[in-house]
Amino acid sequence: MDVTVVRGDITTQDVDAVVNAANSRMRGGGGVDGAIHRAGGPAVLEDCVRRFPHGLATGDAGWTTAGNMPAEWVIHVVGPNYNAGQRDRSLLTSCYSRALAVADELGARGVAFPLVSAGIYGWPKDDAIAAAVDTLRGTDTHVEEARLVAFDAATYDAIKAALDG
Ligand code: ADP
Repeated sequence: MDVTVVRGDITTQDVDAVVNAANSRMRGGGGVDGAIHRAGGPAVLEDCVRRFPHGLATGDAGWTTAGNMPAEWVIHVVGPNYNAGQRDRSLLTSCYSRALAVADELGARGVAFPLVSAGIYGWPKDDAIAAAVDTLRGTDTHVEEARLVAFDAATYDAIKAALDG
């Protein structure tokens, strides 16, 4: 699998599946989650309610339609909330490995990822990048491209350095 980086907005990525940095309630939120629900439209929330009546556990992944986005599916993952004291790194790495497992179930070949937990949830950015790159590279999958989507230039540069290093 190729692990790549682009700078941009996850909601406009032309891939089979985009990953959402969701929360365990699975009813929308801020950051990437808000952007995905806005861009996907009400079908995303309807599918969340139908498929995840009790939400989703931290570290786990599950899918819904991508609604109006170019992608076919959203793979929702729930990263640990570092700011709230959830600092078990295996909960962060499992977001990436579980997302790839769900992508394999769906037959998705191109998957775009945000930097899970590195925004509102406050995971230190360099370690969030290392967790993403190491786990994506270390997981067996049929996914052909895992595309990390950086929202700003500094994050893009840091991910590029981690991929090149
Ligand atoms: P979390 O709650 O898991 O920390 P956030 O959505 O707050 O998730 O942020 C995760 C990362 O995604 C941050 O680096 C943030 O800057 C970035 N981000 C926010 N909006 C978008 C977007 N539309 N596309 C791609 N990345 C985004």
